[in-house]
Amino acid sequence: MEHAEIIDCELAVVGAGIAGMAAAMFASNRGVSTVQIGRTGEIAFASGLIDLMGVHPVEKNRISENPWSAIEALVKYSPEHPYALLGKRKILDSLNETIQFLEPFGLNYQSRGENNSLIATPAGTLKPTYLVPSSMWSGVQSLKDKIRCTIAGFQGLKGFSPRQMANVLEHRWPGLQPVTISFPVASCAPEIYPEQLALRLDLPEQRHHLADLLGPNVRNTAAVGLPAVLGIYRSEQAIADLEQFLGIPVFEIPTIPPSVPGIRLKEAFSAGLLRNRVRLLHQLRVLDVAPANGMKFHLKVGRKDPELIIKASGVILASGRFLGGGLHAGKNGIRETIFNLPVRDPVVRESWHHMNPMDPRGHPINRAGLEIDENFRPLKKSGVPAFENLFVAGSILANQDWMRMKCGCGLSIATAFGAVEAFTASGLR
Ligand SMILES: Cc1cc2nc3c(=O)[nH]c(=O)nc-3n(C[C@H](O)[C@H](O)[C@H](O)COP(=O)(O)OP(=O)(O)OC[C@H]3O[C@@H](n4cnc5c(N)ncnc54)[C@H](O)[C@@H]3O)c2cc1C
Repeated sequence: MEHAEIIDCELAVVGAGIAGMAAAMFASNRGVSTVQIGRTGEIAFASGLIDLMGVHPVEKNRISENPWSAIEALVKYSPEHPYALLGKRKILDSLNETIQFLEPFGLNYQSRGENNSLIATPAGTLKPTYLVPSSMWSGVQSLKDKIRCTIAGFQGLKGFSPRQMANVLEHRWPGLQPVTISFPVASCAPEIYPEQLALRLDLPEQRHHLADLLGPNVRNTAAVGLPAVLGIYRSEQAIADLEQFLGIPVFEIPTIPPSVPGIRLKEAFSAGLLRNRVRLLHQLRVLDVAPANGMKFHLKVGRKDPELIIKASGVILASGRFLGGGLHAGKNGIRETIFNLPVRDPVVRESWHHMNPMDPRGHPINRAGLEIDENFRPLKKSGVPAFENLFVAGSILANQDWMRMKCGCGLSIATAFGAVEAFTASGLR
């Protein structure tokens, strides 16, 4: 530790999930010298869809046609929800800035104006979402217009069954034609993984080979849907090539994790952040922190042992929930893992979950998290900010249930925007 490198910066972003990526993007777009720390594994869970508010009221599990009306209604009834701190203008600005940032790296998004779109999942369910990757857009249109499509899967690819999709969706999207093709990525391998397929399909000759295999199977249909594995770095080109070979629209269908569109997001964000001169300390963790009000935070960063010290005028904490590692649930309650901040949680362990796993109210533990003030600063139990220069974004926030409300990435992006705005307005730089 004696010879650990010291990095001085204005802002340290802790977390490399969607919230951390967005916070580093907003900060560096505004000229803030930024360091980002965190594992990028979590982002590979992201389906690539950007949900804003898909279900409202959540107790009734009602799909919302217009996410903006749903947010307006939600914040009247739940003014403690983090969206209430932002308002439509800022949420919209945050999404637009994100889309513009990702575009030069080959990721484009589409929406149905201000409305949500419905997208079919491999389980055969329909999911409401707001921003859809262009690679999936023909699927949204085909479902809406009930166009007869082929759904093609790959032998050995787990979690994607064209037959199941066609069966479950029979009444809502009639005429789906399931087909499974053999497209080996390694000789004799019984199982294939989405990343393997995607890397292979970045190669033009492999796309040609895939089109040859698909050709005879798509003759009687007007479009073809495949699992979202059509390239990592050149997915738009992969789809354009397949469409040209086959002569019909080709679309991707989101898969179970690890998700290739999540990997694309990671790659695109990382490339943009490097271009913006963000120092990326991906795969490292904050191991310890010496916070001091009015002074710089000192973060000890490394894998197991400290390798670097970051001195930062401000920190944005975007360390996620239980999966990401920002929260830990133990015998004595839920704790925040880096700053030991108080977590707003259901007081006794027995009340973390309702008896009925499908309880329409959702489980109290899913709304546990950090309470913040209007400047996105985490609060002490007394209700005053824990630190002047610490801000919070993403799923670690209390009073939201992103999974049931279907607002995961939208909430992460919008609160990252709010946290960066609060930091830049604070004069702490
Ligand atoms: C299976 C699945 C499917 C999803 N599908 C969708 C979808 O269809 N649409 C949608 O909008 N959203 C979806 N989401 C939600 C979305 O992908 C994000 O999980 C969500 O927005 C939360 O992001 P986050 O950045 O707050 O947290 P996380 O993604 O959990 O990221 C937390 C980050 O903090 C880092 N971290 C934690 N502790 C430390 C430490 N000590 N030091 C440094 N770094 C640390 C972690 O390494 C990680 O990088 C899905 C999520 C999952 C899991």
